[in-house]
Amino acid sequence: MVSTRLSDQVGRVVSARYRLIAPLGTGASAQVFLAEDVELGRQVAVKMLQPALADDERFLRRFRAEAQNVAAINHPNVVVIHDWGEDEVPYLVSEYLAGGSLRAMLHEGRRLSPSQALVVGLDVCRGLAYAHNAGLVHRDLKPANLLFDPEGRLRIADFGLARAIAEASVTEPEGSVMGTARYAAPEQARGERLDGKADVYALAVLLIESITGVAPFVSDTTFGTLMARIDRDLDVPEDVGALRPALERAGRLHPEDRPDAEELGILLLAAAERMDAPSPLPLVGALTEAGQDGESDVTRTMTMLPLGAVAEAAGDAAPTEAEGDAAADDGSAPPDEPDAPESAGRPARWWVPVAVLFAVTLGVGGFLLFQALQTPTHEVPAVLGDQIDDLALIAEQNDWTIDENRTRRDGTEPDEILATDPSPGEQLEEGGTLVVTVSEGNTLSDLPGGVADRPLDEVAAELEDAGLVAVPTEVFDEQIAAGNVIRYGFDGDVPERLPKGEEVPLVASQGPEPRVVPEYADDTTYEDYAASLADLQLVAERKDEFSPDVPEGRIMRLSHEPGTEVPRDSTVTAVVSKGPDVVDVPDTTGMTLDEAEAALESAGLTLGEFVGGGGDRTVGASDPEPGATVPRGTSVNLLLRR
Ligand code: ADP
Ligand code: MG
Repeated sequence: MVSTRLSDQVGRVVSARYRLIAPLGTGASAQVFLAEDVELGRQVAVKMLQPALADDERFLRRFRAEAQNVAAINHPNVVVIHDWGEDEVPYLVSEYLAGGSLRAMLHEGRRLSPSQALVVGLDVCRGLAYAHNAGLVHRDLKPANLLFDPEGRLRIADFGLARAIAEASVTEPEGSVMGTARYAAPEQARGERLDGKADVYALAVLLIESITGVAPFVSDTTFGTLMARIDRDLDVPEDVGALRPALERAGRLHPEDRPDAEELGILLLAAAERMDAPSPLPLVGALTEAGQDGESDVTRTMTMLPLGAVAEAAGDAAPTEAEGDAAADDGSAPPDEPDAPESAGRPARWWVPVAVLFAVTLGVGGFLLFQALQTPTHEVPAVLGDQIDDLALIAEQNDWTIDENRTRRDGTEPDEILATDPSPGEQLEEGGTLVVTVSEGNTLSDLPGGVADRPLDEVAAELEDAGLVAVPTEVFDEQIAAGNVIRYGFDGDVPERLPKGEEVPLVASQGPEPRVVPEYADDTTYEDYAASLADLQLVAERKDEFSPDVPEGRIMRLSHEPGTEVPRDSTVTAVVSKGPDVVDVPDTTGMTLDEAEAALESAGLTLGEFVGGGGDRTVGASDPEPGATVPRGTSVNLLLRR
């Protein structure tokens, strides 16, 4: 055991480079200090190994080899090894993780919610998957080896160190039980060859402990703990919630039945979907941790138990000396106060970025596996241009919720699907939400004002410029001139704006209502008729004509038939009888025939028959006789004499 007092070491400069500033904690095989790298002027953690190990050639060889292996690991979830060397004791220089360890957190009585544990588990899986692929098994995965930087990002510490220490301490490496009993896998308890699946098992145990405060199968003794594990699967309590299926598989008795680190990460992600977003981890801080731990930490950690001891003591619960050490590890079990409840009811999408990070870390194979473990997904069909109603059935079949966003876009129909998120062709899981952008139709245009009494053509052109379509209706109007707009023709209020392409009803004037030409009677005088035309806003015009049979002053006919329609202000001409057209027969007595004919003609009469004519004869008498009133054009017969 370490005997040097921690405080004595503070101030010491290791290898003329690392000035020890403060103790960070003590493990079974080492003391860890916060130190200043005086060469680079940065803070580091220096792990000073047990003085006893300094004399162990076998250990030193293994230590150097493992340190080299670990230093070759470059992964965000594995503690970075900066340097190692020997100055009185072998030491290891690594990055300083100021956030403290998971053990410190649990020791403070802080328990993780299942979703916090999930985030921790994922980080560990990432680091483990990387290291396992590089051929390194941790062998001593436990909360004390999970350290956090101030931002809460997790780093796995002491990769490979357990192996070096194991080989240093026993002559038969095959026959030793390595690591802390509390987290040891069954095959580790049996002292069998270990692979990465042992780390997976340990992770399951520590995650259960982080949530419930109790590690499964932990008995009073190391031996009891190991024995409880060697013939059955890990007992996963209900309290771990949605993580249970993943942890059950990770806790299988046989390593071949467990997922590897990568697969466990994927299983955890599958659970994430049903969980609330985690609240930030309740970090404790590395220096606080050192203060509270003190020497008791020594008894809590690394234990080496020869397999022989296990075999011999089978069935016997009495603790051996070595078991007693390991059993004290139970002292770190946090109390059982429940965590503050997480904010509930939030949609469980928080894990998506975590999942993407995880998938990116694992590469394409891991990603496909991750996908396969997800809720069933369906391809978003090619629905752009379809009506939103057409999507309802598809959404129902695929168990999608539709979130409609309405917007206007020129050239689209109302209810037409403009876009979807995810886009057509992409996958959407059942229970997911398809965000659909739906058209409300074209964009809006302002309706021109002041259209009354302006020419229809002009208003129609203005509407066309605004992307609208004028649809005129013509009505009679006594005031607005024909061809001018009277008003918009909307039923109800005139809208301020309308979607482009919309029809705009316009009421245009076709002038005043036409008038019906009134009837007249036989005895209707022109004056009466003219008055009735005036009542109808028609203009009367009089024209007099002779009529052989219509009495004078009576209307003989009209320019428009009564009953026909004429525009307002039209002129209707009434032809009024002047009575018959008559002339007086002139006195042609004594005139020559030629003179008499001329006189008759100028009087509007015609020469009829004449008798006794020839030579120098003149008119003796006429028939009708001179002075008689006869209709114009009447033929007058003449009697000629000598
Ligand atoms: P164990 O891991 O068994 O506790 P260690 O000797 O590995 O024993 O470490 C002792 C303690 O020192 C750890 O529990 C941890 O709190 C602290 N510690 C170890 N490495 C670092 C580091 N790089 N940064 C901060 N603290 C550390
Ligand atoms: Mg450690």
